[in-house]
Amino acid sequence: MNFWRKQPAEFDFQISRVCKHCGNTFQGKYCNRCGEKVLEKRDQNFKNYLLNLLNAYTFVDGKFFNSLRTLLLKPGKITSDISEGITVPYMQPISFFFLANFIYFFFPVIQTFNTNLYNQLNKMPYSGFARGKVDEYLSKANISLSDFSSIYDLNSTGNSKLILFLFVLYLLPFIILTNYSDRINFVKYFHLSLEFVTFILIVPTVGMSLVTRGISVILESINSNWNGEIGDVYYSLFLALLIFCYFVPAIHRVIGFSWWRSVFGGFLLVSSLILVITIYRFTLFIVTLYLL
Ligand SMILES: [Zn+2]
Repeated sequence: MNFWRKQPAEFDFQISRVCKHCGNTFQGKYCNRCGEKVLEKRDQNFKNYLLNLLNAYTFVDGKFFNSLRTLLLKPGKITSDISEGITVPYMQPISFFFLANFIYFFFPVIQTFNTNLYNQLNKMPYSGFARGKVDEYLSKANISLSDFSSIYDLNSTGNSKLILFLFVLYLLPFIILTNYSDRINFVKYFHLSLEFVTFILIVPTVGMSLVTRGISVILESINSNWNGEIGDVYYSLFLALLIFCYFVPAIHRVIGFSWWRSVFGGFLLVSSLILVITIYRFTLFIVTLYLL
């Protein structure tokens, strides 16, 4: 089934049509005054009707794959195209982000956007505050730390996937601060933030989950007893490098900085990720604690 491909064109673009909605006379598939689509015979065929429904959710017209390919191969191109008014080849950046977010739901291996209770209470700059809050909760609810811990971790994993959009909002001011240009408007910065977080979701998170899973399957098949964990420090450094290599060409393309300025801006932005992740994890802690 040529499910992925566009339907061949058999539409008469030459004849004049009257818009059913606004009465305007026009040529082509869409009314040039109100945007209403011409109802074609194949729209009323049930199979096409189902395909069109899917289309709304979007694999059929190839926009998802085109967005994905562009995201991976041409850093920053979606953002710069959208701000030039080229929107047809891509999914809406927000929809693309939420689709990536949805895919991320099924890849629990890597904890970039989640932190367990142990780390919240011991490894974060606000851990003292967190311990105080948890102690308060434990004495009020009258349960042990280990019981609480397992409930907390379960909820935190779920919440981390629901509040991911906050990461886009938290990253945004840091992009502006580290890569400010008065020629770039706020919406473009916002789209860039969306693109960066979508990239982080898809490549280092989902991609690396698949890669580590693949490696451990191979190693298990040759009876090695590697447990699929990568050392946290090496993994974080590798991740930072990967993200840096993505940010620099994206900044060069979108902001229009020279390569040197882009490298500098990319370096500052990747460094500030530590701060963004900390603020995000703090939010996650507060949300998880208060939703328990
Ligand atoms: Zn119309």
